[in-house]
Amino acid sequence: MTDTTHEIYAIRYAHHDRPSSENFLRGDLHDVNEPLAYFVWAIVGPHGTFIVDTGFAADMAAKRGRTIVHPVVEGLKAMNIAADEVKDVIITHLHYDHCGNHDVFPRARYHLQDVEMAYATGRCMCHGEMRIPFEANDVVAMVRKVFAGRVVFHDGDDEIAPGITVHHIGGHSKGLQAVRVKTARGDVVLASDAIHLYEHLEIDKVFPITYNAEDAVKGYAKLRKLAPSLKHIVPGHDPKVLERYPSPNAALTVTAGLGGVRWA
Ligand SMILES: [Zn+2]
Ligand SMILES: [Zn+2]
Repeated sequence: MTDTTHEIYAIRYAHHDRPSSENFLRGDLHDVNEPLAYFVWAIVGPHGTFIVDTGFAADMAAKRGRTIVHPVVEGLKAMNIAADEVKDVIITHLHYDHCGNHDVFPRARYHLQDVEMAYATGRCMCHGEMRIPFEANDVVAMVRKVFAGRVVFHDGDDEIAPGITVHHIGGHSKGLQAVRVKTARGDVVLASDAIHLYEHLEIDKVFPITYNAEDAVKGYAKLRKLAPSLKHIVPGHDPKVLERYPSPNAALTVTAGLGGVRWA
């Protein structure tokens, strides 16, 4: 492992069965069950452990009709990561499934794009349609962290640590940031919800929750530039992530990851 090479773990914490028509703007002719997986990611390397997104807890799962397969903290613990010792959390965007569990990283500072905070607290939130993927409590919790001196704002592309950079990609949410990580097999891009499923990138389709479809597809071009191949781009909600990468730990009831964790 060189000085800037990291490992990434995809840790699935929740699941949602849904018809494929819900995953594509203007629907889908196949209309089969096409579930979403919900992940947080851990980047582990010479500069410490960086958590990408914080997921949601049981109360939000009940409110939104999702199923927790294992709480985020326990998934991290299985990877020998103590949430209360984590120093850095990168929030890709402020949708409910990416920034809950507000108190489980008490020592962490939170990395967020300027424009995402402005968007989540600004005039677009006056409209129910734009509020759908946001929760006021999540946004307020982030505002409180700003006032506690625990938020680091980024404007566009920036470096978090050697080998870890964030990259603004609009479209899905106005201030989403993808995370590029130098690994042993090259630069891997955690796209988060810049693409929900591999299919979005492969056939140039857009997920229905979108702030701006043009920026979403422009984001696909940016992802392709950031990564050495399509195989180096990791979507935000595709269960196939767990099939395409090996499990890191045979002792766990897992199937996969970058390595990652899937609980039986
Ligand atoms: Zn999202
Ligand atoms: Zn999401």
